[in-house]
Amino acid sequence: MLTEELEHDSSEYLMPTYARLPISIVRGQGCKVYDAEGREYLDCVAGVAVNILGHGHPDLVNAIEKQARHLIHASNLYYSEPQVRLAKKLAELSFGDKVFFCNSGAEANEAAIKLARKYSTETFGPERCEFITMHNSFHGRTLATLTATGQSKVHKGFAPLPVGFSYATLNDLDSVKSLMTPRTAAILVEPIQGEGGVVVADQSFMKELRALCTERQILLILDEIQTGIGRTGTMFAYEQYGIEPDIMTLAKGLGGGVPIGACIATDHVAQAFSPGSHGSTFGGNPLACAASLAVLRVIEDSQLLEKVQAIGSYLTKGLQELQSRIPLIKDIRGIGLLQGMELSIEGKSVVQDCQARRVLINCTVDRVLRFIPPLIITQKDVDQLIGVLSAVLSKRL
Ligand SMILES: *Cc1c(COP(=O)(O)O)cnc(C)c1O
Repeated sequence: MLTEELEHDSSEYLMPTYARLPISIVRGQGCKVYDAEGREYLDCVAGVAVNILGHGHPDLVNAIEKQARHLIHASNLYYSEPQVRLAKKLAELSFGDKVFFCNSGAEANEAAIKLARKYSTETFGPERCEFITMHNSFHGRTLATLTATGQSKVHKGFAPLPVGFSYATLNDLDSVKSLMTPRTAAILVEPIQGEGGVVVADQSFMKELRALCTERQILLILDEIQTGIGRTGTMFAYEQYGIEPDIMTLAKGLGGGVPIGACIATDHVAQAFSPGSHGSTFGGNPLACAASLAVLRVIEDSQLLEKVQAIGSYLTKGLQELQSRIPLIKDIRGIGLLQGMELSIEGKSVVQDCQARRVLINCTVDRVLRFIPPLIITQKDVDQLIGVLSAVLSKRL
């Protein structure tokens, strides 16, 4: 189908929840994607930080193919080997002991919110039920997670919202302290605010936040849906802060493109759930878990984390070099392959111009270009990205 036809039929049959670019991606290979008209693009969006092994990775494709032939779905009424193997792997890789599987980031945070509330109210009493999250955060689109999201534009039109959420400021410990009460059950924070414009939590903020939570027996929940699974050069971003959360949520890169989310917790916290507390029909289904096991295997077998560290600093250097020459670049920030470029102008037309030059990038909060390529991106690809950005931005000087 041609892109014009798709545009027409989309507005005819799909709810108008997305502002889409006029391009239809039909195929991908490695870090390249191809549109319906056969044009090739360098993909620096990766399905919004999802396709961490790029497109068509043979190990991932083979794992999905093999599992699909055996069994796609059977439900959580029965034991499932891929699910248990994946849970064991995630427990080995992380601070956590127990895993709950679901199908998206929002659901992972929903599970974390339910778990924290059940644990806290049962441990400390029914008043201990509230959450502190950060302004500018993003935690999902379900009613609880959009309420946890500290952005009024996400709340607008959906009142009444669930009660028990208040918003502090990232990197301002006093703002967190001033909201803490005996009713506070947990603090939910992203190590790097992705959708909020690639804003990195400070080392000292995270360390002090951890200490404060421990001191007051408040749970620390890290939303690593965007930062987890190698994006920042370690398996989880929290490792770089020298802290451990009580609960962590994952999704995006976890299945390499196959929908899967996870809520991971310590044994102590996880025991608050019992049969019937929570559930998901599709959660942890064999297909998604087989895909995720393949993703984790490739990360380990190909030393991908070390590669992300190297290519991440190569990308950062390239972006910083642009900043030194182009005054409308206000800031470069991020860790590993989650990088943001804050502009003094709106980013929308920059994204369009990059697309015209066959490079896909993304823009968040109007003025921040976000670079979240597949973790397998090469130096040559980064050179192409930097070259196109240079041409597109220099034109605007
Ligand atoms: C994308 C994202 C979510 C929501 O994930 P969905 O799969 O879209 O529900 C939540 N938190 C963070 C940090 C994200 O980046």
